[in-house]
Amino acid sequence: MLGLAVVGCVLLVVALGDSDPVAVAESEVDGADALDAAAAPPQQPPTAAAELVATVEVAPEPEPPTWHEEQVRSGDNLSLIFARAGFTDRDVYEVSRADGGRGLRKIYPGQTIAFLMDGEGQLDRVRHTESPLRWTEFSRSEGGFNSVVTERETELRQQSATLRIDSSLFLAGQRAGLSNRIIMDLADIFGGVIDFALDPRVGDTIELVFEEQWLDDRKYADGDVVAAAFTNRGQTYDAFRFTDSQGDVSYYNRDGVSMRKAFLKAPLDFTRVSSNFNPNRLHPIHKTRRPHRGTDYAAPRGTPVYAAGDGRVIEAGYTRPNGNYIFIQHGETYRTHYLHLHKRHVKNGQRVTQGEIIGTVGSTGSATGPHLHYEFLVNGVHRNPRQVHKTLPKAKSLPDSELPRFRSQVQVPLQQLAALERDNRLAMGQTAGSTGGE
Ligand SMILES: [Zn+2]
Repeated sequence: MLGLAVVGCVLLVVALGDSDPVAVAESEVDGADALDAAAAPPQQPPTAAAELVATVEVAPEPEPPTWHEEQVRSGDNLSLIFARAGFTDRDVYEVSRADGGRGLRKIYPGQTIAFLMDGEGQLDRVRHTESPLRWTEFSRSEGGFNSVVTERETELRQQSATLRIDSSLFLAGQRAGLSNRIIMDLADIFGGVIDFALDPRVGDTIELVFEEQWLDDRKYADGDVVAAAFTNRGQTYDAFRFTDSQGDVSYYNRDGVSMRKAFLKAPLDFTRVSSNFNPNRLHPIHKTRRPHRGTDYAAPRGTPVYAAGDGRVIEAGYTRPNGNYIFIQHGETYRTHYLHLHKRHVKNGQRVTQGEIIGTVGSTGSATGPHLHYEFLVNGVHRNPRQVHKTLPKAKSLPDSELPRFRSQVQVPLQQLAALERDNRLAMGQTAGSTGGE
């Protein structure tokens, strides 16, 4: 891994102004009911509240006020949470009627609500932590509770990595320290040009520049792939993330041609496909000796199978040879077939979009082991799915109006990729001979 670049870091505190005190109809939690109940005039007189407070755990030393923290559990509401902390519906009412207090209607499991008492055992402050990036603190003042929202922003750090494939994209990515999410993003980006189950070969390389979100000097979340290059058997594909003037984000090659193609090259979760490197040397997995007109992907039963492209299911059923099968029509010209499925997840006539899960790998029909038998038809004629992509219509390109901005934006990532490719080739040269053949 190479460079780290800090793009920005902001800590901002937003004090809520006079917001509309009228309760809103929206309610996304079970807590809403309790809140409505609490918003009605409290039932117990305030003196009852004082008695209840006596049961609250109090720190032995009176000096440093300690926060008592409650986790929001599933099925929770404010009343329950306040009660667990030793507070009453009267307290719920007072806090939730504060400006910004209606934010408390939206509580979700995993969040925390913390309580702080004053010297007399009266509720003084409440802190609702939605995430490490946002919390609201309510504090008692003369007219009731006031609220202050604190929001933090993560810092975007740019990272880069070089991968050398000697068994699969997944293993190479893990070895390079990439998160599963980034590896799957790579598979998505190149899914129209590379069959990650069958295409990779020893010696293939990937270079990528990507972002991570950091908070307090620790990685907080994955970011996006900014640019990537995949060299498969000597041919290099590159892809650059670009937001067009409509705000749509997509990946394009250096010429501005979309990486999103009409068909996925491998219509299943490639990470679970076995025998990555010998597509033509699979064991015989069909019981019948009929002409073999498709591609077989040996994968465990239950592996998700995707619609290769947008289309409509024209057949979904069962026959002795096919087992559970699905046929999808794509426009007028193309059709894809998926056989021997364990389960079908779509029905006849249903519209499907590219990448949607339509079923799972199985061994129904005349198959000796779990695998996906995939066929591609052009105008009713079977074609080799592994070859047909060369003859499919071209993917859409960025319009001329977008190109100047695209070209200027890819300048830096292009140079970054070029530098990474040089490094990767150099490192490959040093370890050449230690890798096996195909
Ligand atoms: Zn087959």
